[in-house]
Amino acid sequence: MADLLKRELESLRERCAGRVVTKDDIDYDAMRSVWNGAVDHRPAVIVRCGGPGDVSAAVRFAREEGLEISVRGGGHGVGGAAVTSGGLMLDLGPLRHVEVYPRARRAVCGGGATWADVDAATQAYGLATPGATVSHTGIGGHTLGGGLGWLTRRHGLTADNLESADLVLASGEYVHASARDHPELFWAIRGGGGNFGVVTSFAYRLHPVGPAVHVSLLFWEAERGAEAVQVIDEAVRDLPRHVGVLAAFGMSAPPAPYVPEEHRLRPGHAIVVAGFASPEQHEAVVSPIRAALAPLFEFGAAMPYTRLQSFLDESAPWGVLADERAVDLPRLTPGAIATLCEHAGRKRSPLSFMPAFHLGGAFSAVGEEETAFGGSRAPHYTVSIVAMAPSPDGLSADRDWAHAAWEALLPYADGTGTYVNFITEPDEDRVRASYGREKHARLAAVKAVYDPDNTFHLNANITPGG
Ligand SMILES: Cc1cc2nc3c(=O)[nH]c(=O)nc-3n(C[C@H](O)[C@H](O)[C@H](O)COP(=O)(O)OP(=O)(O)OC[C@H]3O[C@@H](n4cnc5c(N)ncnc54)[C@H](O)[C@@H]3O)c2cc1C
Repeated sequence: MADLLKRELESLRERCAGRVVTKDDIDYDAMRSVWNGAVDHRPAVIVRCGGPGDVSAAVRFAREEGLEISVRGGGHGVGGAAVTSGGLMLDLGPLRHVEVYPRARRAVCGGGATWADVDAATQAYGLATPGATVSHTGIGGHTLGGGLGWLTRRHGLTADNLESADLVLASGEYVHASARDHPELFWAIRGGGGNFGVVTSFAYRLHPVGPAVHVSLLFWEAERGAEAVQVIDEAVRDLPRHVGVLAAFGMSAPPAPYVPEEHRLRPGHAIVVAGFASPEQHEAVVSPIRAALAPLFEFGAAMPYTRLQSFLDESAPWGVLADERAVDLPRLTPGAIATLCEHAGRKRSPLSFMPAFHLGGAFSAVGEEETAFGGSRAPHYTVSIVAMAPSPDGLSADRDWAHAAWEALLPYADGTGTYVNFITEPDEDRVRASYGREKHARLAAVKAVYDPDNTFHLNANITPGG
């Protein structure tokens, strides 16, 4: 294979405008690295795709040479599916352009852009589309799997705001997918992941947002865990759409000046409320939570929307070693609360925690069949159990913690699987459970049309079906 590649690499270089990187290049290790430092996959060749032409040429080349293909957007998939071992990695990193059309409230963004790229460009016009809660996350994998963020209760998933996309198919051909062009493909890429082709550009609907938004973080120590989780659960039930909310179970108190010294880095439970309306409307949401159970400490500020989007960046630094499990819970029963509290206290690394999105509002106003999103549209929690540590030993301990906590929470799940972007090892059973029988069959039929040989299989894979 290596000899063949040496000969054939010349032809790949002639066909692509972007760089072709192999293990002989000094920056090979940097180019194959992703957010999760525990991923150590070694592609035979990396193509730094400068445009759709490079993507098409590289896909055709890989198929001619029998090389496995992986697609790297922002490199945040925790399982590392973006990096093939021994095959060809399409690195969309150079495709980061963002064009904003403020009058049409539309942004056209390169398939390798990050949310920091998109938010900076759209906020220049006071506009935004729902993105991830960590700004260095790629828009590619995030959008294709669905996309949860601070604006999801107000404007739905990222995928709900996708107007169209340009793709390179497994055949190397280009297609434009929208409600009018290739409508089944357009349905499938709004939740069905990277199964159907390589998206070189996404066009999003934009909404007026900010520029200032209101953020409150309320934290309770582990000793009052059950009470605190119950208060959080009651608070999220009837929230207005103008707030986004994220619970952080088992979060370690930050070493910040507003945290009493003896509590810094000790685990507890927090709720973060992001308010997109007036300061008074924000306070009307936060004050009943504070009144129900006085927090150990609280952080509150008005900040630019772009700052909110990077508010959690430091909690998930690039290169940390990570693993993840996730579960959807329809509600927090007393049993689920006791289980959350019991396991939250057992983690070792201050970085590990259980972020939980409470989904509802505009998210639940979209019909179950309107998009391919894997998971229910009924209001529910998507709880991710994230092990993060700076060392292999630390990861090993908290990986066991995450797996044990996940298994203990499964009896409280609604049986519909979970959000595919939070599945680190997407085996067939888990993928089927997320989509449900009918949606999975429809996705398999679309896959059979657009990728009949399962060329794009390093993902939450849908095998082509009839
Ligand atoms: C620190 C961190 C924070 C996160 N926060 C959130 C959050 O707030 N909300 C949320 O919903 N999720 C969140 N996630 C999960 C995130 O949505 C997924 O990991 C997503 O896959 C990341 O996309 P990416 O392009 O960066 O990933 P990559 O690892 O580059 O890609 C993952 C997969 O997506 C596919 N893919 C990526 N780009 C393309 C493309 N252009 N065309 C075709 N296929 C493509 C490929 O199959 C690839 O294997 C977070 C993850 C991390 C690590």
